[in-house]
Amino acid sequence: MTPGGPARVVDDELELAGDELDAADRAEGAADGPGARGASLLTADDRAALAALLGGDVRFDEPMRRHTTLKIGGPADALAEPGSVGALIAVVRACAARGLPVTPIGAGSNLLVRDGGVRGVVLGTRGLRGLERVGATGIRVEAGVSTGKLLKTALDADLGGLEFLGGVPGSVGGGMIMNAGTYLGELKDVTREVTTVRLSDGERVVRDLAACGFVYRGSAIRADLEVVVEARLELTPRPRAEMEATIKGLRQRRHDREPKKVSNSGSTFKNPPGEFAGRLIEACGLKGTRVGDAEVSPAHANWLVNTGAARAADLLALIALVRARVQEVHGVALELEVKVIGED
Ligand SMILES: Cc1cc2nc3c(=O)[nH]c(=O)nc-3n(C[C@H](O)[C@H](O)[C@H](O)COP(=O)(O)OP(=O)(O)OC[C@H]3O[C@@H](n4cnc5c(N)ncnc54)[C@H](O)[C@@H]3O)c2cc1C
Repeated sequence: MTPGGPARVVDDELELAGDELDAADRAEGAADGPGARGASLLTADDRAALAALLGGDVRFDEPMRRHTTLKIGGPADALAEPGSVGALIAVVRACAARGLPVTPIGAGSNLLVRDGGVRGVVLGTRGLRGLERVGATGIRVEAGVSTGKLLKTALDADLGGLEFLGGVPGSVGGGMIMNAGTYLGELKDVTREVTTVRLSDGERVVRDLAACGFVYRGSAIRADLEVVVEARLELTPRPRAEMEATIKGLRQRRHDREPKKVSNSGSTFKNPPGEFAGRLIEACGLKGTRVGDAEVSPAHANWLVNTGAARAADLLALIALVRARVQEVHGVALELEVKVIGED
C-alpha cells in the first residue's frame, strides 16, 4: 500500500486515459480550508478497533482529493483498504456492529467528494487484486483490479470482448457499479456473475447477469448497500493483433477528443437518449465557462474539469449552472454520470 498513493490503479502500459494526471501532485490539490468539515463520527474506541483490524491498511482523516482523479474532496473519517475479501468482511462487520456508515470506492475516477469529506469509513477496494483464468474463456477478477490490467490479461490470453475498455480508467468494482463502457461495448456484455458483500451484515450476495440490472452507466447494485468484491466474465477467442487494432482506433479517437492536462472524471453527465450531453452543452455556448477553478472544458463540453484548485462547491455550482442552461435552452434535464458523495 502506498501512503497517499494515486487513486488510479493503473499498472500497465495499456491504460492511457488519465495518464496525464500527475499522481505526485495529488497531495498538493485544493486545501480543505479551515472548518470545512463536520466532526468525525469515529470515537477513539472506533479508531483503535479499526487500527487493530487493519494495521497499516487504514488511514484516519484522510483527504479524499488524494483518491479521486478530480483531485477534489475533504477528509474521510477513515479510509480502510483491506488486502483481502476476508479482511473486507471483517471491516464491514465491525462497522455494522458499531453503527458506522461505510462508503465503498474504487479508483475514484467517477467520483466527486464534497468539501466537508465523508463521515464514517470509506472502504477502498484496491487491495482486492485477485485475477485468474477460469476454463478456456472465463476470467475471475476481484474488484480492485484496474480495468486496464483486466484488458491486458485478456489480450495476453487472446480473449476478446473487453476491447471497449481501451483507455477507460477505474477498477473492476467501480466498473460494475457504473456498467463502464464506450461505443464499442460495456461490461454487461461480458459479465456472467457479480459477488458483493452486504454492508448491513457482511454476508456475500451472488448475482447472475439478469440480477445485476445493468443499464447505460448504471446497475441495480447499490453502492450504499453493498460492496462489489468479485466478478466472473466470459470472453470469446480473438487474435491479439485484431484486438490491438480495435483498441488503437478507440484510443486515437479518445485522444483526439479528450481534454488533456487537467484533473477530471471523464464525462460529467450521462448522454440523454438519442443525444449527446456535450453537444447540448456546447450549443448553449458554455464551453470555457468557469466557477473558480472548475471549468466546462473548451475541448469537450461534457467534461467539467478541475483546472487547479477547484473545490467541490465550485464544481457543483458549475454543474447546476450547466443543468439550468441546458434545461432552459433545450428543455432537457441532464442526469449526472459522476457520483457525488460526502457532505458540504
Ligand atoms: C479520463 C477519464 C475517462 C473516462 N472515460 C470513461 C468511458 O469512456 N466510459 C465510462 O464508462 N467511464 C469513463 N470514465 C469514468 C470512470 O472511469 C468509470 O465510471 C469507472 O468505471 C469508475 O470506476 P472507479 O473504480 O474509478 O469507481 P469510483 O469512481 O471509485 O466509484 C464510482 C461509483 O462506484 C462506487 N464503487 C466503486 N467501487 C465499488 C465497489 N467495489 N463496490 C461498490 N461500489 C463501488 C462508488 O461508491 C461510486 O458510487 C472516465 C473517467 C476518466 C477520469
